[in-house]
Amino acid sequence: MDLLKEKILAEGIAVSDEILKVDGFLNHQVDPALMQDIGQAFAEHFKNQGITKVATIESSGIAPALTTAAALGVPLLIFKKQASKVLNDALYQTIVTSFTKTTSYELSLSKKFIGDKDHVLIIDDFLANGEAASGAIRLLHMANATVAGLGVVIEKSFQPGREKVAEQGVSVHALARVKKLAKDVIELH
Ligand code: 5GP
Repeated sequence: MDLLKEKILAEGIAVSDEILKVDGFLNHQVDPALMQDIGQAFAEHFKNQGITKVATIESSGIAPALTTAAALGVPLLIFKKQASKVLNDALYQTIVTSFTKTTSYELSLSKKFIGDKDHVLIIDDFLANGEAASGAIRLLHMANATVAGLGVVIEKSFQPGREKVAEQGVSVHALARVKKLAKDVIELH
């Protein structure tokens, strides 16, 4: 994904030594041609594995997850974020601590769209501490579905997400890996 790496270096903004802003092409304004390439790259990596669905977390994972699902020819599941309320029988629900750790949110998935025959590929925009991915894995396991892997557009390798996800037996494929962030500095692997 040379184009992705070029875009990160040309247009990405390191807002701190922890956070990379890529809202010009990934999660605020979206580059559709780049999303198509990203979908193809994930589909190529995860092909022939019997994947039945792609899943993501609203809202910033939707663009790359949709093109991946299209390339694999399977439906896209969007895990919903919503304020915590009473337990709902029709939903699988779990609490996720947000990346900034200042808030947590509830992730939910309707039972009617997932089952024990599903083999699901999770796609997200960023992998940082692995909390969002772990929440997605928990929801899929509640449904007795199996997890084919986690595909992330950008992994920040100086944060512990990959290890956290690997501990749960899920392999990670990142299209770009950030080694270091500092004010006005972005270093890729
Ligand atoms: P994690 O749960 O792995 O700690 O964080 C993953 C989620 O936090 C991603 O879905 C993404 O929305 C958000 N996130 C984490 N790090 C960054 C970052 O550096 N930049 C942006 N724009 N979002 C991030």
